[in-house]
Amino acid sequence: MTQEDVLQLFKESGALLQGHFLLSSGLHSDRYLQCALVLQRPEVAEKLGAALAARLRAIDDDPDFVIAPALGGILVAHEVARAARVRGLFAERRDGALALRRGFCIQPGERGYVVEDVITTGGSTKETMDVVTRAGGIVLAAGSLIDRTGGVSDLGVPRAALAVLDIPAYPAEDCPLCRTGSRAVKPGSR
Ligand code: ZN
Repeated sequence: MTQEDVLQLFKESGALLQGHFLLSSGLHSDRYLQCALVLQRPEVAEKLGAALAARLRAIDDDPDFVIAPALGGILVAHEVARAARVRGLFAERRDGALALRRGFCIQPGERGYVVEDVITTGGSTKETMDVVTRAGGIVLAAGSLIDRTGGVSDLGVPRAALAVLDIPAYPAEDCPLCRTGSRAVKPGSR
């Protein structure tokens, strides 16, 4: 699956939005990738998960689990885990910090991939990596359907993404859209 194939799927699903958005990283941007619209078709989600799993397995082919931050990453972890035939977990916020809940467990020495739908700053991926290492697990690689940092943020582990885009995102105080008087909206709030 090429980058063009992946972006075509996003366009067909109406998942590549234009406007003025407040991203979950806190940054503002004129574009937003609403992965839920692509992943709402299970056969597409399965295909994307298999493609991402193949790239992650090319980095290290012996994972024990796949984990993602909730909510956006849950379906991605599920589909990558399906393809890799391992457990799919997710971490959730509790008092502001990501943690394993629902009885999910990572044993010391277990190895896994950390995945997300879209990487913007890498903040959620880093936080999820911390959840793994605090449990004594090992992060083999970090993957995302889309990497919108242009591939630049350094996570300290090998990276894989189905599409790498360089979409600018700005702190509110430097946002050119805010300067025109427009207000950023939180995507998915409608
Ligand atoms: Zn703005």
